[in-house]
Amino acid sequence: MYFKTQEETVTTLLSNIGPISYKSFPLRLYQITSKFRDEIKPRFGLMRAREFIMKDLYSFDVDLKSAQETYSELNDSYDRIFRNIGLDYVKVLGTSGNIGGSISHEFHYQADIGEDKILTCSECGYSANTELSGDCSCPKCKSKNINISSGIEIAHTFLLGDKYSKPLKATFLNIKGKPEVLQMGCFGIGISRIMAAAVEVMSLEQEIRWPDAIAPFNVIILPPKFGSKEEQSTKNLSEKLYTAIENLPNLKDNILIDDRISLTIGRRFLEAKRIGYRFIIVIGKTSTENVPLFELNDLKLNIQMHLTESELLCYIKDNLIF
Ligand SMILES: [Zn+2]
Repeated sequence: MYFKTQEETVTTLLSNIGPISYKSFPLRLYQITSKFRDEIKPRFGLMRAREFIMKDLYSFDVDLKSAQETYSELNDSYDRIFRNIGLDYVKVLGTSGNIGGSISHEFHYQADIGEDKILTCSECGYSANTELSGDCSCPKCKSKNINISSGIEIAHTFLLGDKYSKPLKATFLNIKGKPEVLQMGCFGIGISRIMAAAVEVMSLEQEIRWPDAIAPFNVIILPPKFGSKEEQSTKNLSEKLYTAIENLPNLKDNILIDDRISLTIGRRFLEAKRIGYRFIIVIGKTSTENVPLFELNDLKLNIQMHLTESELLCYIKDNLIF
């Protein structure tokens, strides 16, 4: 569990400032922080580390109906975030675990090293963490036609109701000026975990792969080796191309030039593939022609093309979507 004590902290904050008017709600408080956990066996890189980055949000509403609306609005927003990242995910009914509360959902990436077991029913589409289900049939329709897979949890949402607000006396003043208990929800995304899990799911044995939306850099340009014929006749071409690409949408600070030109193109190309830049652009022989052609390697679609500058800009613009 990620957030054992944060609910208490934030609920106490609300109860300490005293009951505020119903007009101030809904209220949503969030933080993005490093969290620490006394993990006995840190492993899987960033996945199970002693320090991780998390976003957690707490919602406060004046009644259960509004809290449910907030819950579904925040769930929709999480769906949009994961759709934007672009990697297939599953959203399942969660175990309420140590947090309690009436309903919760978990978001998972499916991967063999995942420590959660996800049940999906082929008949009715029901999906849940198996801690909830137990036996070998669908809890909803009783079908035996179910699939169990491993999942890495990347986000979790809870409708808490008054579980914390009631004992900690977090209240608001209703329309008649009387104090009433607030209804809460909490919503967490494991930011560093998403990176680790996505890399885990997408990568090849020897090469990292990233979702476009969260890759540190999407494009790298490899200029020719120092002292080569190509180097003499393509002066400033890398910088010119760099500037043109940088001006495309979402490409600012998203592109690098590998200027270690004492190394061969081949060596730098292999390294770039391993690091997993979506687009690797090689300035080579074809770039010395009157109208220079650039070798564009699209690692996601596994294709190589020779394109003019304007064709290359169009290709990157059309294919990098987030
Ligand atoms: Zn079913």
